[in-house]
Amino acid sequence: MDRPFTYDLASELGAGVGSLVRFRFHGSLTKGWILGPTDDVPPRMLPVQRVVSAVPAFDEELLALARWVAARYVAPLATVLDRLSPPRVASEEDAVPAAADGAVGSTPPPASPVFTAYREGQALLATLRSGSGGFTVRPAPDDEGAAAAEAVAACLAGGRRAIVLVPEATPAPATVTLLRERFGPRVAVFAGGDRRTRYRTWLAIRDGAADVIVGTRPAVYAPVKDLGLIWVARESHPGHREERSPMTHVRDVGMARARGVGAVLVLASLCPSAESAAMDLRHVAPVSRRWPKVEVVPPGPEGRARRLVQALPEVRRGFLFTPLRGYGTAAVCRSCRAPAACASCGGVLRLADGAIRCAVCETPGRCRVCGGGSFAIRRGGAERVVEWARAVAGVPVREPGRPRLPRAREILVGGAGDVRDLGPAGLDLVGVLDADLGLRRPGLAGRERALATWMEAVAWAAPAGRVIVQAEASSDPAIQALVRGDAARFHERERTVRAAAGFPVGSAVFRAVGDDRLPAVVAAIPAITSLVTTLEGRTVCLLALEPGQIDAFGAAMRTLAAAGGLERVDAEPHL
Ligand SMILES: [Zn+2]
Ligand SMILES: [Zn+2]
Repeated sequence: MDRPFTYDLASELGAGVGSLVRFRFHGSLTKGWILGPTDDVPPRMLPVQRVVSAVPAFDEELLALARWVAARYVAPLATVLDRLSPPRVASEEDAVPAAADGAVGSTPPPASPVFTAYREGQALLATLRSGSGGFTVRPAPDDEGAAAAEAVAACLAGGRRAIVLVPEATPAPATVTLLRERFGPRVAVFAGGDRRTRYRTWLAIRDGAADVIVGTRPAVYAPVKDLGLIWVARESHPGHREERSPMTHVRDVGMARARGVGAVLVLASLCPSAESAAMDLRHVAPVSRRWPKVEVVPPGPEGRARRLVQALPEVRRGFLFTPLRGYGTAAVCRSCRAPAACASCGGVLRLADGAIRCAVCETPGRCRVCGGGSFAIRRGGAERVVEWARAVAGVPVREPGRPRLPRAREILVGGAGDVRDLGPAGLDLVGVLDADLGLRRPGLAGRERALATWMEAVAWAAPAGRVIVQAEASSDPAIQALVRGDAARFHERERTVRAAAGFPVGSAVFRAVGDDRLPAVVAAIPAITSLVTTLEGRTVCLLALEPGQIDAFGAAMRTLAAAGGLERVDAEPHL
């Protein structure tokens, strides 16, 4: 029932757009939001019974954005409206202080400027003061947080407010810490926290108590007035994409919101996504390239290049990246000599913390053939790297436990989960191990994700530090992008690969599940790619569409859903 219903709203109730109200629907009391007046008034209407909350969940601006999201992702409007505000904690509404005066506060004195040394930097700052439009920013490694702060300052100087979106809440990204130091009480952090804190923060933002909203993806809907900037930090990070359907991405929602209110969208990243690289935005980057020197060497026996082993004794602070956890993987069963595989699911068996478990389903490792529990181990992984690096390094070598930078006199060994926005690091050495594994990551965006992680790790090296990448495929465009610190040519190649796979960058991808009426409905929509399969009696369609076809596709799906022929639609599924 993805459509609005008409009720009689008495003006004494004092409700308006976004108000949560109680009314009778098919005989039972239910809750819903007011979307606004209608000219299409039926002869008989039931009354709205009462207002549940005095605080509207959204205004006209956010309602328009929700309508855009519902159309773009072919999602029920009610599902999107539910995302605009955090779950309500009624008692917090009584505790709301008197509204702030609503004006944007004065701007703190500038810190050392970043954008003076950037191409298009002055254009970005001028637009932030009074204009609108989209930019990509590729900061130099040590400028990541400072660039965000300078952009926010320019936005505030123009009398407008800013939203800064970060992909993860804990540990607090260095960008968040820096913004809090710089802008103090004018910053509201809308990320993590318990239910009460989240709702209280949301109410405060709504009252105009903050000029800078820093948060994870729900903050893209923060109820901010006079919005001038949406800054997306680490734009290519998967944390910016919603995990539940509709799987919205802050890049697209942010773009729509900025366009709707005449604000500026900035997609910032050391390694942009293929999508942002193809978006035709103004590009802001350092005039002179600042990137450490990167050496690419063959991995050597057991993934230990001689160059890396020779470098380690001199290292005071370093980071070794490996995509593998644990000590190694099971190769063959010691009892029956069968190739090792999980007895439950057939997955790879990994030795970590002294125990063998399935890397996929986590059950204790048993031979798929004879049920035995003893395996010959192929060594490789963070635990093993710690072991061999300890034997040659001059300082302690360890896994960090939680994401952090190495202390003075320490080498850390970690994986993708450890590579975070932790601020300028200035390391003597960054090693990237098992790069060839990253190049084989499955999925359309697998290689891009590997490259982004490597670039974020390499950015931890001091300008005069060393970077050693162990890879056989030294001429691969991803490895070459890592050497240059610039993913432009890699993206050119990826665009070709994605187009050849039938899912070009910038196309809209949908997966629809329905009954045997679905294929004919889908066939009527002009598609770049259309794959139809049958699975357990249901029909599954995978489509790539030109963006101009989304509305027609959405209308067809809503009609089919109303006729009972559609189970679900997912926009932008993982491929
Ligand atoms: Zn398993
Ligand atoms: Zn066996």
